[in-house]
Amino acid sequence: MKSVLRNRVAVAAGGLGVAASLGAGIAHAADPGLTDLSVDIGSTVTAQADAQAKAAKDAKAAAAKAKAAAVKARKDAAKKPNAWVKPVDGYALGEPFGIPGSHWAHKHSGQDFVVPTGTQVHAVHHGTVVKAGPWGGGDGPAYGNAIVIKHDNGTYTQYAHLSRIQVRVGQQVGTDQQIGLSGSTGNSTGPHLHFEVRTGPDYGSGIEPTGFLRAHDDAV
Ligand SMILES: [Zn+2]
Repeated sequence: MKSVLRNRVAVAAGGLGVAASLGAGIAHAADPGLTDLSVDIGSTVTAQADAQAKAAKDAKAAAAKAKAAAVKARKDAAKKPNAWVKPVDGYALGEPFGIPGSHWAHKHSGQDFVVPTGTQVHAVHHGTVVKAGPWGGGDGPAYGNAIVIKHDNGTYTQYAHLSRIQVRVGQQVGTDQQIGLSGSTGNSTGPHLHFEVRTGPDYGSGIEPTGFLRAHDDAV
């Protein structure tokens, strides 16, 4: 009898407090000799905590695995001739292009990629660095440390709020080359990469960047 009840409690323990208390009720009704039942419930709670810790660990491992897969996909994509790649990995899409932002004087001129400060930022396509520096490289203080790259099709890309700039004006960069680290410099409410695709070198010529990247075979 005792082992049967133990099993019941163990089964109930798999799920919910309600089930566990049902098990306890059975114990009272059935056999006053089950003195170690509370110990079983105690170990059940411990088991649930362990399961939660394991779930958190698994989620972290899954996120790391997903990021590793994204890094590999980006590197593979970069090998293709004339490739365009994502500027960062392991991001969440933030504020999109074109909406009136609370901290922007005009409509949001790029796409935000939410990533921790210090995330590697890559040139989405080969080209020449035409701006690199604080104050948006000349575009204004809202951008913080920023880089603008001119590409061979006449398109420009911009990378803003960087914590570190790792290229200089005039430098040729390859597709997927690391150009800096993300941050939260300038007018930014938290760590993210602000990314623009422009038809000219300067602020005000931005076009919607995710559609642009998608049209160039790199969906974000
Ligand atoms: Zn932005």
